Amino acid sequence: MTQAVLDTTTETLRQALIAHYETHRKETPPHAVFCARYHGTTITIYQSGKVLFQGAHATEEAARWQEAAPTTKTATATSPTASAATPQSAASALPANFHQWAIIGSDEAGTGSYFGALTVCAAFASREQLAWMRELGVKDSKQFSDAQIAQLAETLRNTLPHVLLVVSPPKYNDIQPTMSQAKMKAILHNHAIAKLLQQLGATEPEAILIDQFEPPRTYFKHIADEPQRIRDRVYFATKGEQHHLAVAAASIIARDAFVTSLATLSKQAGCTLPSGAGANVDQVAAKLLRQHGDQALRQYAKYHFANTAKARKGV
Ligand code: MG
Repeated sequence: MTQAVLDTTTETLRQALIAHYETHRKETPPHAVFCARYHGTTITIYQSGKVLFQGAHATEEAARWQEAAPTTKTATATSPTASAATPQSAASALPANFHQWAIIGSDEAGTGSYFGALTVCAAFASREQLAWMRELGVKDSKQFSDAQIAQLAETLRNTLPHVLLVVSPPKYNDIQPTMSQAKMKAILHNHAIAKLLQQLGATEPEAILIDQFEPPRTYFKHIADEPQRIRDRVYFATKGEQHHLAVAAASIIARDAFVTSLATLSKQAGCTLPSGAGANVDQVAAKLLRQHGDQALRQYAKYHFANTAKARKGV
């Protein structure tokens, strides 16, 4: 099941959330102040101020509110500064001049899209490469067209040490029934970072910054059974690409790999597979279902998304 969290929220934001989901309100669980079920997703506001989104459209629903959540401006560190006495919700900012450090940045793409792969990239940028990237115009991948992304991604792939992991829909659908998407993402990030550290050998990054998609505590719980757990100097920040260009580079490489997977799968499917999880996606899914049956959706899409059920209704 997909899960997304807004770690710290203002009273104003919580009121806005309640007003928005009021008509879908359901019974409030312990330690919560509000709970609603909307669009296949359960939204729970806890007494701590934390808001949890669980279900098929968790990422999408949370994204509506992320802009307004104060966590988008802060970051949480797990080490070396965070101690057991530091509550995770009290987000501490990144160290001074962090944007100038030589770090590994890690980000993913395709998580909210029904069609296409899930991609994760970890990229290392030295202090010298940071200046070069600024000149190149590296920034948030969402601000570029697909064509610009393709060009930038190629340059970055040729220059920066990186590890790119691509989980194709069939592979994703094999794993997903026994693992939440959030856990899959955490394992992929950890794996990409571990592999990159190995590649870098004697070159030691000053830190690692993961574009935050869940609280650090949950992230580390998810990777608890992994043979190699990277914990040292790992920082988390929402909108990580704004905090460091290594994350921006990773997001561009990951995004490009997702766009490429969508193009490749479209060719195989014989029609354009749109990104996202909206109504246009349901229509294409219904068409595939009519023409090629269930197998086509397992081949090209993240099968557990609510779009599958909606496509069936549209057949
Ligand atoms: Mg991200």
